[in-house]
Amino acid sequence: MISKYSNQKNKINEEEIKEAAEEIKNGNLVLFPTETVYGIGANALNAEAVKKVFIAKNRAPDNPLIVHVCSIEMVEKIVQEITPLEKKLMEKFWPGPLTIIFNRKSEKIIPNVVTANLDTVGIRMPSNKIAKKLIQEAGVPIAAPSANISGKPSGTKVEDIIEELDGKVQYILDGGVTDIGLESTVIKIDNGVIDILRPGKVTKEELQEVANQVEIDLHVLGKVEKNEKVASPGMKYRHYAPNTKCMMVYSNNEEDMINKINEITLDMQNENKKVLVLGREKHINSYIVKNKWNMGGELEEVAKNIFTLLRKVDKEKVDLVIIEGVGENGLGLAITNRLIRACAYNYIIV
Ligand code: AMP
Ligand code: MG
Repeated sequence: MISKYSNQKNKINEEEIKEAAEEIKNGNLVLFPTETVYGIGANALNAEAVKKVFIAKNRAPDNPLIVHVCSIEMVEKIVQEITPLEKKLMEKFWPGPLTIIFNRKSEKIIPNVVTANLDTVGIRMPSNKIAKKLIQEAGVPIAAPSANISGKPSGTKVEDIIEELDGKVQYILDGGVTDIGLESTVIKIDNGVIDILRPGKVTKEELQEVANQVEIDLHVLGKVEKNEKVASPGMKYRHYAPNTKCMMVYSNNEEDMINKINEITLDMQNENKKVLVLGREKHINSYIVKNKWNMGGELEEVAKNIFTLLRKVDKEKVDLVIIEGVGENGLGLAITNRLIRACAYNYIIV
């Protein structure tokens, strides 16, 4: 298959979105931007189309896809009910980076392949203009996982993912770099308690403004043991990890963290091993290593940069990548969740 491209970044015209929407209607795949990361979209009502997504990504069939909608009516057609708390959350955070897990209607309007046979379905309304227009023009909900081969960091710009996805989708809508850079916050509500299954841009602190009780699922920061049952199947899999060995180092005390990173660097260098350090802008000059990359200043910037940086580290041919941790407050929880997986749970808290 030869993928068709939109002409110009950030200037996708309506005609191109309509063309891409035709591909969705015809049961084909479209790569499109959302405000979180790029997605590989298929008509969520068409099981055959959705199967192509799993093949393109080499995604495990027990890892369900998020369904993207452009209206509340679309949600109502798919789910059993929308509770008052869910309604409140939708009003506050939609369109935006929050995925809510609902109970599916018993007549299974969304095919089993989308939800990996679960009785629930994850739904979100994206705010990105191209994504919104694409869903509107297609006239159907779009099932879309992050655009990457499973296991790799999610795609936040077309240049990063083109090598692995060119020829696997019918149409590529290039909307430039995505705004947020991390996937959506995924939540499930049980008896009025919000459980964060995957942290994202919508933080625990923001959710607490709507519900009294917000909990963080055990597996957000904890390791998933073999054969362990998890609320969000995606958490079981190796994710975001470069081939090069990575280690996250964090401390509440900035000086201790910098010292520890420099100490590990020295130990490695004494053994003639090469090290790359990924650090925050405010600390970068304190690292003794020559090969160091600035992850960004504010957490928003780190979130936006992190997947692109992780995709580049293998090219450096180093023995160890040391990555500064960012803590668990606000957006920090979402970044830390991705980093500990990128490091395959190899991290030190000093
Ligand atoms: P991705 O499509 O790559 O952004 O990953 C989607 C994430 O949402 C995965 O971690 C899934 O496990 C999770 N997810 C999607 N649908 C459900 C669901 N019905 N129940 C629990 N988790 C879900
Ligand atoms: Mg993904």
